[in-house]
Amino acid sequence: MSIRLKNIAKTYGKAGRGVSRALEPLDLDIHEGELIGLLGPSGSGKTTLLRIIAGLEAADTMSDRPSSIHFGDRDVTHLHVRDRRIGFVFQHYALFMHMSVFDNVAFGLTALPRKQRPSSGEIRARVQRLLEMVQLESLANRYPAQLSGGQQQRVSLARALALRPDVLLLDEPFGALDAKVRQELRRWLRHLHDELNFTSVFVTHDQEEALELSDRVVVMSNGRIEQIDSPEVLYRSPANRFVFEFLGDVNRLEGHVHDGTLTCGDARLDVDLDEGSHELLLRPHEIKLDEHPTELAHLPVTITAIAPVGAEVRVELEADWLAEPWLATIRHADFERLRIKRGQRLYAIPRQWHQFPAANQRSIASETMS
Ligand code: ADP
Ligand code: MG
Repeated sequence: MSIRLKNIAKTYGKAGRGVSRALEPLDLDIHEGELIGLLGPSGSGKTTLLRIIAGLEAADTMSDRPSSIHFGDRDVTHLHVRDRRIGFVFQHYALFMHMSVFDNVAFGLTALPRKQRPSSGEIRARVQRLLEMVQLESLANRYPAQLSGGQQQRVSLARALALRPDVLLLDEPFGALDAKVRQELRRWLRHLHDELNFTSVFVTHDQEEALELSDRVVVMSNGRIEQIDSPEVLYRSPANRFVFEFLGDVNRLEGHVHDGTLTCGDARLDVDLDEGSHELLLRPHEIKLDEHPTELAHLPVTITAIAPVGAEVRVELEADWLAEPWLATIRHADFERLRIKRGQRLYAIPRQWHQFPAANQRSIASETMS
C-alpha cells in the first residue's frame, strides 16, 4: 500500500497561548512495500508525523493549502484510526500484562465485532502462525512479565500483524533494548516486512539503525524534511551539512587558503579552493595514516587513543593545529603495518573531504586524493 502525504503541517497549542510548530508543511510519497525510516534528533517531529499517518493526530487545516493523506487510492484523510488498517509497535511494549502471549497476539482478532471476527479455530491458527514467525510458539502460555525485553517486542510485532495491516507503523520500537537484541530485532522486522509484504514506516534517532534497515530514509530536523534517499545516496551525497553531520562522525579542518594551499599552523593541504578562510569536513574513513607526508598533504598528528571495533580500528589523533581531536578508522592490516601505538607521530592523509558553503546547498566534495 503506498502512502501519499500532501501539505501536512502540525502546530500544537492554541494561538495566543504559546503555539509551537512541530511540522512545517511537507509532502511525502512512500511507495508500496517500502520500509521507510524516519530519522532525526529528538524533537524533530518524527512521532508527530507517524501519529498523523496513523490518524491519532490531525494535521493542521490550512485554508489555502488543503492537506490530504492517501493509502493507495484510498483517501484516508478523515478516516478514524481504527478504519485505516494499520498495525502499531511502540517503544514500550504496551502488552496486556494479565494476558498470555497467545491472548495478547489474538487480542485484535477477538475484539472484532462478531460479524468480522474469524472463527475461534481460525484465530487459533492465525495466532499460531504469527508466533511461529517470531519464533515464540513455545512461549504461547507465558505472561509478558516472564519474557525478556526482546521477546516482548517480538510479541508486539506479532500482535500488530494479527489484523493483517496494510501499513505497519513503529515508533522507536527497539529503543529500550540492548545493542545485541536490537540487532536481532532489526533482522526480524526486515524479514517479516519482506515476507508479509506490507508498507512500514519506523521512527528512530539511531543513524545506524536507519541506514541498516531502511529502503529509504527520511532525515528530519526542526519539523522539516532535510533529505529523502536510499542509505547509500544519503551517506555519499548528503544534501546539506545537517545531514552530513547527523549521519556519522565528522572531523574538521579550518584554515586559510592561499595559492591553492590550505594552511593551519604547521599543517598544509593542497586544495582547489578560492583564497580565504575555509572549513573542510572529513569522515573518519576518509583519513589515511602514513609514516611520511605526501606532496599534497602535510598533516602531522599524534596517536592518543586506540580502540579496535569490529572490522576496523578507531584511532584518535591530536595535533597543535587541531582545535579538537580527529577520529580515524583504519583497517586492521594498516594498523599492523604501521605498528600503531599511543604517542606515535604519523601523518594524516585525506582521501577526500567535504564542504558545505551554505545551508541547503549541495555539497562540494574533493576529488579522491590518493
Ligand atoms: P520526535 O518524535 O522527533 O522526538 P515529536 O514529534 O515528538 O518529535 O515532537 C516535535 C515537537 O512537537 C517537539 O518540539 C515537541 O515538544 C512538540 N510536541 C510533541 N507533542 C506535543 C504535544 N502533545 N503538545 C505540545 N507539543 C508537542
Ligand atoms: Mg518521538
